[in-house]
Amino acid sequence: MNDRPYSSQHCSVQCCAMCGRRFGLVRYYRWRTALCSKKCVVRFKERQEADHNWLRAIANG
Ligand SMILES: [Zn+2]
Repeated sequence: MNDRPYSSQHCSVQCCAMCGRRFGLVRYYRWRTALCSKKCVVRFKERQEADHNWLRAIANG
């Protein structure tokens, strides 16, 4: 089964870009992306850094 639990495509404005949950009282912004919690901010940052490393590896290769 290819079931994706976190689908943020239909809900990118109202919901967290990382986990797809609706926002509570607080929302965090990272690179113009709205996130629901610091945990998601950390995850988002890690993913951005991973993407950056990936791109850099291609550039160097
Ligand atoms: Zn979240």
